[in-house]
This record gives sequence, structure tokens and C-alpha cells, in this order.
Amino acid sequence: MLAGNPGEQMQLEYDVLVVGAGPGGSVAAKYAAKSGCDTLLIEKRQEIGTPVRCGEGIAKRWLDDVGIEPSKKWIAAEVDGARIISPNGTILTVDESRAGNECGYVIHRDVFDLSLAQQAAAAGAEVMVKTAATSILKEDGKIVGVRAKSMGKEFEIRAKVVIGADGFESQIGRWAGLNTNLKPKDVDSCYQYTLVGVDIDRRYTDFFIGSIAPGGYIWMFPKGDDIANVGIGVQMSKIKSPGEAKMYLDRFIEKHPEFRKGRPIMEVAGGVSISAPLERTTLPGLMLVGDAARMIDPVTGGGIYNACVAGRIAGEVAGQAVAENDVSQSMMDRYEQGWRAKMEEHLYRNYLMKEKITNMDDETFDKLVHAMTTVDMQRMTTLEILRAIQKKYPELVKEFEEFM
Ligand code: FAD
Repeated sequence: MLAGNPGEQMQLEYDVLVVGAGPGGSVAAKYAAKSGCDTLLIEKRQEIGTPVRCGEGIAKRWLDDVGIEPSKKWIAAEVDGARIISPNGTILTVDESRAGNECGYVIHRDVFDLSLAQQAAAAGAEVMVKTAATSILKEDGKIVGVRAKSMGKEFEIRAKVVIGADGFESQIGRWAGLNTNLKPKDVDSCYQYTLVGVDIDRRYTDFFIGSIAPGGYIWMFPKGDDIANVGIGVQMSKIKSPGEAKMYLDRFIEKHPEFRKGRPIMEVAGGVSISAPLERTTLPGLMLVGDAARMIDPVTGGGIYNACVAGRIAGEVAGQAVAENDVSQSMMDRYEQGWRAKMEEHLYRNYLMKEKITNMDDETFDKLVHAMTTVDMQRMTTLEILRAIQKKYPELVKEFEEFM
């Protein structure tokens, strides 16, 4: 029977239910379906991928790990590297292979998300849009599904395993009893324009740091010769209202003629967690993936990569759980251990790093960026940067010694 006619003869029992068709959810649904599970992916929006709330920068090297083939359909631009621009204009240029997870491709995020959902469907998952989870079903200490609403009708969807991939504003974790609260210092308020007619070097993604964006940064991600996403993330604890992010961005654009001449064709606002990941991302029958589990990199604010990597692990563990008819905590812990082995150390280190960086003044940023231009780095990880600077300017990174 057709998905999309809730309340009629719809099948309401699945092996695996994935809530949220962002990158994390679609990848999870794909791998759950690939392992033979009867899988349903639900998305509250009517169209997967829109509206876009993203800078649209991703690295190249991880795509293969989650079975994503680069496609012209969703690659808007390919960049050679990233530039970090300090308050006094010092530029550090890093080639793509050494840059972080937000450099390599600038994508059309709507097409990207849709293509991941297509892959999930091609692997056998059912996809239902305009279908929102409204509460969680719990029985005998296990999560056994959700109540959902679609086209005004309410119904239950039961599943052996539920994967919560419902993004930054996630409710699934909270409804299930996990602590997903965020402090203002662990949230960035973001605002972004897509500007046409800008004067940019499309070979680079640019990151402007310092007091122009308190606790965050301003980015320029080129989508073509004269079109770019120009956006800002500002730490919530440093502003009075989320709307101030736009004010900081407008002020910056006003001072930069190369951006000022651009005309906006799109504006987006959104939140990004810059916290440490959740202490617990599983319960019997439940796994949380991506932004819902606070897996965003606290320094860069990038989360597509981590959501996809965790999505794959969650989908595979769901497959094992169903095959072994075991949704106990120890089975779900396979996911907990799997994603932590891949990214926890990096996320925690960057969280501590973020705590320090957000209180740095412009002068220190200038010194750090200058120091980085004079040292040799194999890769642009925070640890590499610190170690490289330490060799030459130990006094500059004294504060960071604890996590080196
Ligand atoms: P999401 O992509 O948020 O997907 C969650 C999905 O769940 C959504 O489609 C939502 O509609 C759906 N949903 C929510 N609740 C329900 C419900 N109750 N029932 C059904 N469906 C539900 N990351 C990068 O890597 N690079 C960048 O350049 C970058 N720039 C960013 C710029 C901005 C302004 C913002 C806000 C974020 C940016 N990020 C970036 C972060 C990135 O967008 C996220 O990390 C990524 O989308 C996480 O994927 P996800 O699948 O976990 O969640």
C-alpha cells in the first residue's frame, strides 16, 4: 500500500523508523534498508531539503565513507582551499586537502538532501513527507515508535528501532527522556545571505574571525563566479537577541565593497549547537543522530559530515538489532561506541578549543593567524595548528596546553 494515505490502510509497523530526512536521517534510513530492514523515513516538511538553512560547505574526502558519489547535480563549486582572515587582514591560506570539514565543495544543499533521500528510497526505505512525529511511544522501558500527524490525521507508527535524526530543534531525545538542553554559550545564532554580483575569488572559502562576529565567524562560500553564501554565526551568550546576528553581518557587508555590491536572492536564519556532544545518545530502541545528538563541530559549526557518518553507523546497528531481535541498551551501545570512536575525541577537543577562542581579543587572533602563516602544517586540525604554533611560539598557545 502507498505511503501518504495515513489513516486508511497504511502499514503502521516497521522494523526501523527514522524521524527527519536531513542528511543524518537519510543516510541512516539507507543503511537500515540496505541491511534488510523494513524501514520508514518520515519528514515533517513537504519538500525534502527546503528551505535551505546552511552555508553549504563540505569536504570531499569523507563522502566515500558513507557511500555518497560526488554529483554535478549538487556540486555548485569546487574550491582549492580556505582562507582565514584575521581582524587586521592577515590571511592564512590553506589548501583543500589540509582544510577542515567545510572546505572542498560548495553544494546545492536542497539537491544534496533530496539525493540522499532518493538513495534511501532506492535502497528500499519508504519515505513519507508532511509527516511529523508528535510524541514518543514507550513500553516496558523501550522506545517502540512515535505518534505522528500527517495531513491533519494522527496515527501511531510502531517500530523495533527508532532513529531520531530531527536536527537542531530535536524533540525525539527530549521526549524519550534524554537531556538535550543547550546553554546560550553553546548555541550560535546564524544569518546568511546568498548574494549575486559579488566580487570574489571563487577558488577559496573565506573565514573572517574576530570581534566582527563575537564567539563565531563570518563565512564566504562561493557558489559560482559572482555568487556566494555570506553568513555569520554569533554565540548566543554574547548577544541580547538572535536578531543581532543579522546586524553584525550587515555591518560587515557594509564595510566590504566586494560584498556590498551583491544583491541578496536568499536569506536564512538558524541555530547551530556548539556544545559538546550529548552524554548519552541512546536508550533501548532509540538512537539519536547528527544535530539531534549535538554532533556539530563546536569550532566550525559544520555538521553534515558527522550527521552522515553517525547515520551510517546507526543504520547498520539498527540492522543488527533487528536481525538479532535485540533492542536492549547493550545493543544500542554498539552505536554509542561506534560514533564515539570516530568523532568524540575531535568534538571534545574542539569544544574546549571553542571555550578558549570565544574569549580571545582581536590582537590575539591577529598574532595567532600570523603565527599560523609562518609554520608548516600537514593538516588543519585544531591539534595540528596548536602543535605547529607551539614549536615556534610556545607563549602564544600556553593557554591551550591542557588539550594538546
Ligand atoms: P537536519 O539537516 O536539521 O535534518 C533534520 C530534519 O528533521 C529536518 O528536515 C526537519 O524538518 C526534520 N524534522 C524535525 N522534527 C521533525 C519531526 N518531529 N518529525 C519529522 N521530521 C522532523 N554544516 C556543514 O557541514 N557545512 C556548512 O556550511 C554548514 N552551514 C550551516 C549554516 C547555517 C546557517 C546552519 C543553521 C547550519 C549549518 N551547518 C553546516 C550545519 C548543518 O546544516 C547541520 O549540521 C546538518 O543539517 C545536520 O544534519 P541532520 O540530518 O542532523 O539534521
